[in-house]
Amino acid sequence: MSAVRDLSRISPRVYWLPPGKPDRPSLCAVVGEHGTLMLDGGASSAHARAFLDRLAAEGVAPPTATALTHSDWDHVFGAAEVNAPVVAHRLTAEDLVELAGTDWSDEALDARVAAGEHRLELAENIKEELGSQRDVPIALADITFEDALDLDLGGVDVHIEHVGGDHAPDSSVVYVEQDRVLFLGDSLYASTSGPERTLTTKLAFPLLDTVLSFDAELFVEGHTESVMSRTEIATLVDDFRRAGTLVDECVSSSGAVGRDRCSPGPNSISANRRATSCAT
Ligand SMILES: [Zn+2]
Repeated sequence: MSAVRDLSRISPRVYWLPPGKPDRPSLCAVVGEHGTLMLDGGASSAHARAFLDRLAAEGVAPPTATALTHSDWDHVFGAAEVNAPVVAHRLTAEDLVELAGTDWSDEALDARVAAGEHRLELAENIKEELGSQRDVPIALADITFEDALDLDLGGVDVHIEHVGGDHAPDSSVVYVEQDRVLFLGDSLYASTSGPERTLTTKLAFPLLDTVLSFDAELFVEGHTESVMSRTEIATLVDDFRRAGTLVDECVSSSGAVGRDRCSPGPNSISANRRATSCAT
């Protein structure tokens, strides 16, 4: 794990701002000759502004578009501050409309926590990130795609691909071809919607295949505090597969729910890979 908390240039055309508290995800900028693409919008206007100011200090042209990996609040609340067209999967775009019509006041957050719609952690993180004077302008999607979208930024090609997965059905990844960087968002993380954080072999295994099918050398995750090498991601994938296969074998041999024997649940891998919470 790296302690670095500032902007760094991780490849010739990619800048990365590492994740931070309370629930700020990684942000990246892909810099081409005629366009800069921001990867994820950030957790708030303040988060996005901090990224934009750091980019400007490096002499990078401001983003000409923002690509969103999924619609969790911490990845999209800052997009309005960027003031550039938003690129998003169709499902993400639909979620943005819903987020724009949601009341983010303390009272509304508390009511949704009480009703079991939000985790307490999520409400606390939103309150901390956004402060008491809370205005949450939500940037809606300007460009949507179904399976994938390719962008030419001038000397650098970007491929955005919908991958889904346990964490969020709308998850997409972004591949920067010339620099061999894959921006994963939260796609490899566990589901956060239920009482336990789980990955299912049904969704995780094909997703792992997809991730490794990119010829990437650097892998950036939403809330992981270091950029991973191909060797590191391959080790992680092996660990996933081993754990998932064991759980599946245990479930099939127990012939029942097997909750006690096959913790945490049927066909799921205990997968709390994050120290902090992750959004909705
Ligand atoms: Zn997320």
